[in-house]
Amino acid sequence: AAKSTGKNVAVAFHPSMTVEAHRRARLETELRKAIDADALHLVYQPQFDCRTSQLIGAEALVRWTHPSDGEISPAEFIPVAEGSELIVALGQWVLRRACLDAARWNAEHDTAIHVSVNVSARQLRQAQFTEQVKAVLDESGLASPLLELELTESQLMANMAVGVEAMQQLRTAGVRLALDDFGTGYSSLSYLQSFPVNNLKIDRSFIRPLPQAGQPIVAAIISMARSFGIAVVAEGVEEPSQLAWLCDAGCDIVQGYLTGRPMPVAQFRELLGAEIC
Ligand code: C2E
Ligand code: MG
Ligand code: MG
Ligand code: MG
Repeated sequence: AAKSTGKNVAVAFHPSMTVEAHRRARLETELRKAIDADALHLVYQPQFDCRTSQLIGAEALVRWTHPSDGEISPAEFIPVAEGSELIVALGQWVLRRACLDAARWNAEHDTAIHVSVNVSARQLRQAQFTEQVKAVLDESGLASPLLELELTESQLMANMAVGVEAMQQLRTAGVRLALDDFGTGYSSLSYLQSFPVNNLKIDRSFIRPLPQAGQPIVAAIISMARSFGIAVVAEGVEEPSQLAWLCDAGCDIVQGYLTGRPMPVAQFRELLGAEIC
């Protein structure tokens, strides 16, 4: 932050910045230990098919219970991890845990419920990333189409060429891809053509005003995605009226507190076969 203000001296000596920088440094050290000590865990948020109301998948979301600070949000510690190579180890841990969990829930229930895993740009840029994904699929026994990797538009835009090549390799390996937080980046809608993604996740900020306001933009995103053959996932669906509007507007998949909060894997396994509506 100091660099971007153009007022380096004033900002660098602001006492609250020092506290903030100190906390980040401490979190980074402790996060490194947490990964080694297996102190992270995953929760799973269900995704439902709008047309059939069937449970079709879950997004894996990482949680960190800090020994003294308690539960720390990934919104805080993921950016810390992304500031260093730590995100690579963290991301690898998440990927492996999620594939092992999904392979187990599908074997237990004879289902084909996918798992979606968030991937950071720094992971995607690693030359070995596709090989690591294949190795985790082999180890877990999870079928490749049951793994979906979520990438954000803003992270992909930072290095288009590397991103698109890595994405193509992953698609060749049979893995599915989703564009996360769609609409919050700065890219033109036409960039959607260059990303080989299966799904587009409309950011929660576009869902919140529905159905009273914001319908034209969501309708436009759905229709544009359709024309590219990309399925649409609505994130952050909290109200029955939003669910009804989205299903009616041709949205394919919904995810949000209304249909299911992120939950421990044991609880998610009990859901298999559940329905909405
Ligand atoms: P995201 O990938 O967009 O995940 C969706 C976030 O929205 C999750 O927050 C989820 O709990 C929250 N959410 C879902 N439904 C609702 C709803 O109806 N209302 C509201 N208000 N919120 C809802 P969470 O778990 O705190 O994760 C925040 C972000 O942290 C994620 O956003 C993702 O960018 C990042 N993240 C989480 N786990 C990982 C991970 O394993 N790797 C990476 N690289 N990033 C992760
Ligand atoms: Mg996500
Ligand atoms: Mg998202
Ligand atoms: Mg997000």
